[in-house]
Amino acid sequence: METLNRRHTALLLKHARRFMRATAITVPVADVAREAELILGEMGTRASEVAAPEAAIRDVIRHAVGRVKRRRTLIEQIAAGDDLEAVSRDLAAVDNELPPLLGKPTAEDAAAFETVCRLKRALPPTDALVMALIFDDDFADHEVAALVTRPVSDIAAARERILFTAKELGIEGDADARAPAGMPGDVEKMRELKVKRLAETAAGAGPESAHVEEALLRLLRDGDASDDIADAVMHVALCADCRASLTEGEVERRQVVVVAIEAPPDAGREIEKAATDARAKLVERGEGRWTALVEPSRAASFKGELERDDSSKVSRLAMAEPVDVAVPVPSASNRKPMPSFIDVAFGSGTSGSEVAAWAQVSRERRRRVDSLSPRALGVGLLIVLAVFACIALFATR
Ligand SMILES: [Zn+2]
Repeated sequence: METLNRRHTALLLKHARRFMRATAITVPVADVAREAELILGEMGTRASEVAAPEAAIRDVIRHAVGRVKRRRTLIEQIAAGDDLEAVSRDLAAVDNELPPLLGKPTAEDAAAFETVCRLKRALPPTDALVMALIFDDDFADHEVAALVTRPVSDIAAARERILFTAKELGIEGDADARAPAGMPGDVEKMRELKVKRLAETAAGAGPESAHVEEALLRLLRDGDASDDIADAVMHVALCADCRASLTEGEVERRQVVVVAIEAPPDAGREIEKAATDARAKLVERGEGRWTALVEPSRAASFKGELERDDSSKVSRLAMAEPVDVAVPVPSASNRKPMPSFIDVAFGSGTSGSEVAAWAQVSRERRRRVDSLSPRALGVGLLIVLAVFACIALFATR
């Protein structure tokens, strides 16, 4: 399972992004990709059992979007002050919902995959890559040009060659329904639509050769099309994973701990200070509720600081298990020397863990919270004593 997830990180991100673009749904792409990983984990799908990983991932993403939307609704309910126990019951319902088991691709989708591979292999590798980016991955010509640093005119010329080769291989479009009776209609356009439809429904396994190294992908992004990387270019044209790595950019895995905090509203400053000291990210979730993201190595001391006997204002707190999220690797030019705060953002795959942390809070026992900290109490007592001393002083005169 672990291998399927890790190997397909970029592919999950890519399909999440594509789905969001097609449907205009606005949930964080990284949350959807992470949710899809969770679903794959819950389904116990073994990498070897999935005959067509990309087709399977397309299905899982659709399901993951639905789950992320429901989790975000739960977070909104938490921020609106809803009862945490009710929220955790709803969470259990979200977790138990799984898509149907991923089966073998249909004969039609498998045949489409064969045709698409045949066409790619009949093309020069750089054209095969352009074909994959346009037809499989749905990028517009100008986007492809930007992704592989080539002029748009190059991409348009490659498109012509791809369709010419498709014709030579005998790939014909369906009948043009808009054409007048007895007329062939726009044969070329119909062929192009056919190639698009084949690429969209294709379901099959990627190439057997090893995935292309990040250094080579970087060359491709920079527009290198030299012959000595031709094999790598063809692999990327045939491999959905490598293409996702090419277009998503380099991502790395990072662990983060989500902490859910419940406290009287006036504890905000103290919680903010503890978060700053732990280099954590903090967000307010309505009145008296906060969520923090903290590095695993700082999580225990952050919790300890908030629950310190002499200063604590926190009534309930729960720390989720560390969650593994994918974050983009910054390019060398904007790499910060030493980030002052954790560089994992809310919504980068943390929503699921956040709801889990809140559900855990609902099961925690409430700590007795003094509305004044011991230090404030001490200062208050001194003031009262001073007042009494003054009164006594005046009274004796
Ligand atoms: Zn590959």
